[in-house]
Amino acid sequence: MPYFGGFFADYYYLVLVVPMLILSVVAQVMVKSTYAKQSKVLSSRGITGVQAAARVLYHYGITDVRIELSPSGKLSDHYDPKAKVIRLSDGVFNSNSVAAIGIACHEAGHAAQHAQGYVPIKIRNKILPVCNIGSYLGIPLALIGYWLGFEPLVAFGLLLYSFIALFQLVTLPVELNASRRAVKVIEETNMLQPDEIGGAKKVLTAAAMTYITALLVSLANLLRLILRFNRRDQ
Ligand SMILES: [Zn+2]
Repeated sequence: MPYFGGFFADYYYLVLVVPMLILSVVAQVMVKSTYAKQSKVLSSRGITGVQAAARVLYHYGITDVRIELSPSGKLSDHYDPKAKVIRLSDGVFNSNSVAAIGIACHEAGHAAQHAQGYVPIKIRNKILPVCNIGSYLGIPLALIGYWLGFEPLVAFGLLLYSFIALFQLVTLPVELNASRRAVKVIEETNMLQPDEIGGAKKVLTAAAMTYITALLVSLANLLRLILRFNRRDQ
């Protein structure tokens, strides 16, 4: 039985993956602190998260999407395209902070993407099954190929695994576009005063950073595995 622990705890992990993991932790901390700060800044017009999301839906002429209070905790806000429901967390749904309005409008932006058949979402849904297979089977297949000395299997395993990074790459435009839609509607409908929009943007930018760092972690992992599997000296 080969010693897999030693296989993974290598030099490439230390120099490639660890720095990206640190970056992603920094991004997570930033998103939490930005959210905490902007949750205290209340909008002068007094619109709540649920009202803000409803305005975005109205702006896009969407009438078949519901908005519900999410039973999960903080920052669990999301759009469920199958159920056609925007779920907003407790701190967003009834809050009239600039953070809540930014997040609520972002989630409604996802609903608008689905309603309009936004292409990156379609691509993301297409590659999702391969990505799921890749996350379970990619590394095991590559390892089996490695121990058997059968390189095509190594390459195939890594190719499957690379779909995780590809999925995250396609996620980026989806997330940035949802935020762009949010800010556009906030501005056009005067939901927030001009000096309040900056706070909502900060929350959305911090959230976008977490998607970027997640992609960087995946790319670093992929590169490290390619280098590791190519080393034939042990
Ligand atoms: Zn999003």
